[in-house]
Amino acid sequence: MPEQLQGQVAIITGSSSGIGAAIAQCMAAAGAKVVVNYVRSSKGAEEVVGEIEAAGGKAIAVQCDVSQEDQVLNLFAQTYAAFGTVDILVNNAGLQRDAKFVDMTLDDWNWVINVNLTGQFLCSREAAKEFIKRGVVSECSCAAGKIICISSVHEVIPWGGHCNYAASKGGVRLLMQSMAQELAPHKIRVNSIAPGAIKTPINRSAWETPEAFNDLLSLIPYNRIGVPEDIGKAAVWLASDDSDYVHGEVLFVDGGMTLYPGFATGG
Ligand code: NAP
Repeated sequence: MPEQLQGQVAIITGSSSGIGAAIAQCMAAAGAKVVVNYVRSSKGAEEVVGEIEAAGGKAIAVQCDVSQEDQVLNLFAQTYAAFGTVDILVNNAGLQRDAKFVDMTLDDWNWVINVNLTGQFLCSREAAKEFIKRGVVSECSCAAGKIICISSVHEVIPWGGHCNYAASKGGVRLLMQSMAQELAPHKIRVNSIAPGAIKTPINRSAWETPEAFNDLLSLIPYNRIGVPEDIGKAAVWLASDDSDYVHGEVLFVDGGMTLYPGFATGG
């Protein structure tokens, strides 16, 4: 891949594992200096940094709980101390705390909303301030900055047993679109990627037994589970000037999961 992100700095939240780790590696391979954020898994983050450095790239690991404002300010301060600025933010950190609706505690609800939605707000606000202050650096990019929100097919597909998660991702959809509308005059591009089923620790129960895996495949017309690199490659494109006229969009990377596969033979 040509170095589409040469000279740019990318913060990828929650990049010690899964989709975020792949985005960090793909962006580093495309020439970006990368901030690998984690909250608990320092080992995972250090491994991602090590792999990037072994391939000749530049990366640092920074601990930060994206739901905590003071820690988000520190994440950006550490980024500026190491690399001077930020050009790309990928809001990827996310989690599930599943429960039947009537059994869902307020703590289950708040935890997921705080990380998956409030975390995207806090990080995007800090990135937007820096993009506006610095403006366009034409040798690096046509845009003053790029924000990519990692959403989910569950921003449009309702998901019983996961009401907190689906609500958080539905919120990300309108947060992303509203930021896109407001920030466009500053030449800040804002988009989302909505993954389908990607094989990571977050959804282990959906792929670790043959029965669960077959059930999952019945929901995916393209008949394979996604891999984190499917999202990493899409994120590089959305961060690059190749997608300069793409703004306020949701890119579904889901093997067709949002095509209502049950209607292929029924209905
Ligand atoms: P994962 O492997 O469990 O990774 C989650 C990442 O988020 C980890 O790096 C974790 O850090 C980090 N994280 C969790 N809470 C955090 C917090 N408070 N502050 C900062 N980082 C935090 O999950 P994944 O599948 O890669 O998911 C990544 C994103 O993709 C999530 O937003 C998820 O909703 C979305 N997504 C995933 C799928 C899928 O099928 N896998 C589908 C649609 C959307 P630690 O390791 O340090 O805890």
